[in-house]
Amino acid sequence: MTDQDKLLDGNRTAAAIRADVAAEVATLRGAGITPRLDVVLAGDDPASRVYVGSKAKACGELGIESHTHELPAAVTQRELEVLVDQLNADREVDGILVQLPLPAGRDSHAVLDRIDPAKDVDGFHPHNVGLLQQGRPGLVPCTPAGVMELLRREGIEVAGRRVVVVGRSDIVGKPMAMMLLHAHATVTICHSRTRDLAAVARQAEILVAAAGRLALIGADHVAEGAVVVDVGVHRVEDRATVERLFPGNAKKLGTFESRGAVLAGDVDFTAVAPRASRITPVPGGVGPLTIAMLMANTVRAARRRRGV
Ligand code: NAD
Repeated sequence: MTDQDKLLDGNRTAAAIRADVAAEVATLRGAGITPRLDVVLAGDDPASRVYVGSKAKACGELGIESHTHELPAAVTQRELEVLVDQLNADREVDGILVQLPLPAGRDSHAVLDRIDPAKDVDGFHPHNVGLLQQGRPGLVPCTPAGVMELLRREGIEVAGRRVVVVGRSDIVGKPMAMMLLHAHATVTICHSRTRDLAAVARQAEILVAAAGRLALIGADHVAEGAVVVDVGVHRVEDRATVERLFPGNAKKLGTFESRGAVLAGDVDFTAVAPRASRITPVPGGVGPLTIAMLMANTVRAARRRRGV
């Protein structure tokens, strides 16, 4: 099998999820219901602006109505909370997403906790976190949900297998581990205090990297034949690092020349791909799944709220 055949193609799976969501939206619209997502963007973080733009574009492509509420960096805590209250009260709004990070000094927990759990399409509200923990239906975080969908649609068995998740954040690592547990995997969670990460990671039949550390996972961390899922996303802006991570890779160097940066993950793809049975690339792996699952969550919220 070539490295190309091993690729777990996130773009392909995201397209399949989007097609399913678009069909559902068309049915709902036929019944007079237009799912609606409202996004709150506070401040002028360039990356946040790009993410919010991609979310609005995806909504447009799938027939979901979307509204972006742009607020200045000087917005007060109170103003943020009042906006969330208004969106909660608006019967037409199905999903509310507050783009993080909020401007410095704002209490994001206080804002997120205020979102009506029925409209919490990011799945970050403690109510939804609790439902996930108990394995009850609710709204779940988009990135780990996307990874589960990728594994399912690619026919990768999870039940009974040893899975290692590297990272324990509230938005990726912890919900990822919980979803895998509910899918009957034997799950180990690693984090910044884990001793001998490589030895633990090598136990994995499925390894999920979500540490936010460029190329943390090397060949030493991966058992022969493991499935490797890379959640990390890093912009690599120096040539020496690009050459080190992608030696002799003319395509990556070409991207670097034209754009001044390439994207890379938590997994050292060049070193790990030969050992893995399947592996997600960066870009084109987990990234596209996150927005696809946000769209799916918005439709799910619309159905549940409106009882259809
Ligand atoms: P985070 O910084 O909140 O959490 C990182 C976790 O990794 C922490 O729990 C920490 O304990 C652990 N960690 C850090 N260094 C480690 C080390 N050396 N060994 C073992 N564990 C270590 O990050 P996050 O928000 O969970 O995001 C993780 C990565 O995923 C980032 O690169 C982020 O950009 C990416 N991400 C991608 C998407 C997507 O849509 N593709 C979505 C969310 C996050």
